Formats: sequence, structure tokens, C-alpha cells
Amino acid sequence: MNILLLGSGGREDALAWRLRQSPSCEALVAAPGNPGIGRWAECVAIDACNGQAVLALARERSIDLVVIGPEAPLVAGVGDALRAEGIAVFGPNSAAARLEGSKGFTKDLCEANRIPTARYVRTERAADAMAALDSFGIPVVIKADGLAAGKGVTVATTREEAEQAIAGIGDSPLVIEEFLEGEEASLFALVDGQTAIAFASAQDHKRVGEGDTGPNTGGMGAYSPAPVLTAALEQRAMDEIVRPTAQALAAAGTPFCGVLYAGLMLTAEGPKLIEYNVRFGDPECEAIMPRVEGDFAQLLEAVATGRLSEVEPKLSDDFAVTVIVAARGYPGTPASGGLIREVEAAEQVEGVTVFHAGTEASESGLVAKGGRVLAVTAIADSFANARARAYRAVDQIDFADGFHRRDIGWREMERIGG
Ligand code: AMP
Repeated sequence: MNILLLGSGGREDALAWRLRQSPSCEALVAAPGNPGIGRWAECVAIDACNGQAVLALARERSIDLVVIGPEAPLVAGVGDALRAEGIAVFGPNSAAARLEGSKGFTKDLCEANRIPTARYVRTERAADAMAALDSFGIPVVIKADGLAAGKGVTVATTREEAEQAIAGIGDSPLVIEEFLEGEEASLFALVDGQTAIAFASAQDHKRVGEGDTGPNTGGMGAYSPAPVLTAALEQRAMDEIVRPTAQALAAAGTPFCGVLYAGLMLTAEGPKLIEYNVRFGDPECEAIMPRVEGDFAQLLEAVATGRLSEVEPKLSDDFAVTVIVAARGYPGTPASGGLIREVEAAEQVEGVTVFHAGTEASESGLVAKGGRVLAVTAIADSFANARARAYRAVDQIDFADGFHRRDIGWREMERIGG
């Protein structure tokens, strides 16, 4: 197969790395890619959100399968443009991508299909939202509708904070939600329109600071699997949340095809849906890819062509841990251009791969370009070993402008008494 991968982050570097190792992958092209992805693929500088540009590139390179990494091209309808021309795509059309693009759409779909999620109210005007607050306790969750890259959500611990969040959103669509208590875990399911199969679990760390403090980020680290999502809970989440969602979308004539990422709250009553994403998580993907066994390209093609029932995804029982190295200032304005050295030394640590999230090749060498810069990933036979390897590798890297969290996986360390 000739494969085209869209995107330019750490997630796509991990996807490219795994696709490149697939026996069925003949040629790998990435758009726009990054210096890390350039190790495994030919990078072509086009706008991944421009459907016509992507289509032209796919035709020019006789592409058999397009794998769409990030949400923006999915929501923008790049999948639609490719499918309309008969090209196999891993990633949903824009109608099904509303699961991520519109929180209100997802909440309504859950309600109509009795899918467990937080009780909610949708409003379009600030005054209505203020009034609706009365029917919720504190804490309460306020979410702006639409793509917000992990921002746009306020967990308000006082009424004043909730009112401020509503005022900040103004007369725009928002969702007010009941606060759910429990531990969060992510479930990644492959869905080919009809068949949905649990693929992997993971947990991530969204806050910038140790002890899960400070502002939200795209994610400062992740690990897979997430033992807290036991086989029994995963089964429940598939039966009560993921499969009913896939069925509802198929019945509406807007089938989902790709990876459905369910952000779950494991409550005392069982798993409840917090949110959907319509692509792999970043950095969860970096922690999942090292565990993938078998021909990954073939698996994605089976999803893209509605033949998921004919294949069996295989993940190793090993653990993988990803530590993000970010540029100083992130998630505010990150320091740009800082020199990064000794990535090769980090990759000498057993089981380690360093994925590039935001790097650039310059005359003086590799430099930072973006907030999250590197995704240092290690795999091992136990969680503790994978974590130790990841930090050993991080410690090799010479990046004066960088910072990282030392406590990635703290919940798991507590659970195993480490
Ligand atoms: P979202 O963008 O919907 O994933 O929300 C971002 C984060 O806010 C989640 O990862 C949770 O930590 C938190 N959150 C969102 N909704 C709820 C809820 N209903 N109850 C508790 N926490 C929530």
C-alpha cells in the first residue's frame, strides 16, 4: 500500500513509525509532517485541512489509504472529499466528526440513546445559562461548544466561577454539566461503520504542573494500558457507550469510520462518557503505538474499508509510558528556537523511542518549534520499568529551554506501591 498520513505532531510521528514497520506499507508520505516523521516518511508541505490539496497529492502519489491524525482536517471534511473520490480513509467524515466538533451534538446523541453521561443543559444565550445554573449543584462544569483544543472547559468549584465562565463564553452555544466523580481513563475503539472493537486503554496528564496542578495543556504525558479500566469495565464501556454510539451514527446515515476515543469517568455507577474525540489522543497515541503487534497498516485499511470483523487487533501486554518535554512558557507562549541535543543518546536507552511533537531542523541542529516538543516513550514488561526507562531517556536530553513533569503515572505508581 501507498499510505498518506496527515498531521505534524507527536501522534503522527508515532503513527508514521508504526506504519513504516508494517509489511503491507510500501510507501509512506506525510503532509505536512515534521523532522521526526521525516525519519520514516517523505514529508510534503501542504495544508492538511485543504481537501482539494490532499486529494491532489493522493492522486499524484497513487495513494491507497489516507490516515488522518488530527481532528481539524476531520471536522473540516477532508475525509468526505477523499471518500467522494473512492480513496480509502482512516478517520470519519465531517458528520460523524461532530462527536468531537460539537459537545452539544454528542450530549443529545447520548440522551437519545440512553448512553451514560453527565446530566446536562444546552443553552445559546448567557442569560439562559445563568438561569440553568440553578438546577445544578457545585462543582458544575461549563463547556463552550465547538472545537477548543482541550480548553473551553471550566470545572467551577463556586457559583461565582461558573458565572464568570458563562460570561466569558457570552451569547454562544454552551453546555452545562453535572460534575462527575471518579477516575478518568481513555478507551480507544476501532470502528468501521458497523463493527466496533476495543483497541487500547490509556491515561494522560492534562495539567502542566506536577500533582496535576496548573493550567490545562494538550497533555504532558500518558501511559498504556490503564489498568484502572479493567476488562469488565472496558466491556461495559463498549456495550453501553461505544457500540450504541456507532449504531446510532450508522442508523442516521453518518457512519463512523476510524478510531473513536472515549474519555470516560469511572464513577461508582460505572463508566460514564465525558467526551468523545474522533482520532487518537496525543500523547496517548505515542504510548499505544509501541504496544501494537502485527501489520498496523493492514489493520487501519481493514477499518477504512469496512472489514474490521475479518481482522484481530493485537497489542502486547507490555506497558508504555510517554513523557512530554515541552518548551518553557507552555501552555502560554512557548520559547521557540531552543537547541535540542542528545536525542540519539536518549534513544540508546533500551525500549525507548523519542517522537517529535514540535521540532524544526535548523543550521545549528534540531530546535524547538511549538509548545510540546518531544514525546519520550519507553516500553517494558512492567509499568515501573517503562517509567524508569522513559525518565532515564529524558535525562539524557540536553534542551536548556525545555521542561517536563517528573510524576507521569503517579496514580499507577501509587496503585502498585512504587
Ligand atoms: P472535555 O474537554 O469535555 O474532555 O473536558 C476536559 C476535562 O474536564 C476532562 O478531561 C475532565 O477532567 C473535566 N470534565 C469535563 N466534564 C466533566 C464532568 N462532567 N465531570 C467532571 N469532570 C469533567
